[in-house]
Amino acid sequence: MHEIGMCDGLRDLIDQKAAGRRITSVRLRVGARHAVVNEGFDQAFALVADGTAAQGAVLDLVVTPATVACHVCGRKSESTDALAVCPRCHAADVEVTGGDELVLESLRFGLSWEEGTGVPGRPR
Ligand SMILES: [Zn+2]
Repeated sequence: MHEIGMCDGLRDLIDQKAAGRRITSVRLRVGARHAVVNEGFDQAFALVADGTAAQGAVLDLVVTPATVACHVCGRKSESTDALAVCPRCHAADVEVTGGDELVLESLRFGLSWEEGTGVPGRPR
């Protein structure tokens, strides 16, 4: 469950943005290479958000694709599959770039969305 670690990094950021307000929805952009499972992420988020302003908030996950560059046929394409192969020739000899972001895209307080919240630290 690496999702918990990912959510953990978001908690402080979310708390800061909330500034005491109650959060009803959280929209996250997650790169395909994190290979998160919706359900797993929901659970992890619920655990981490417990006791914060985002407790009980609805999580809206947007998976962003990675770029797959094929070394065999030279094609570049986008994939939301973490174990990418070339969609044209199915070669596994590919270079995957991007798709590793984790961005808190927006928060919803009551009925209004708030934009632009930034990127939490990435543990590496
Ligand atoms: Zn190919």
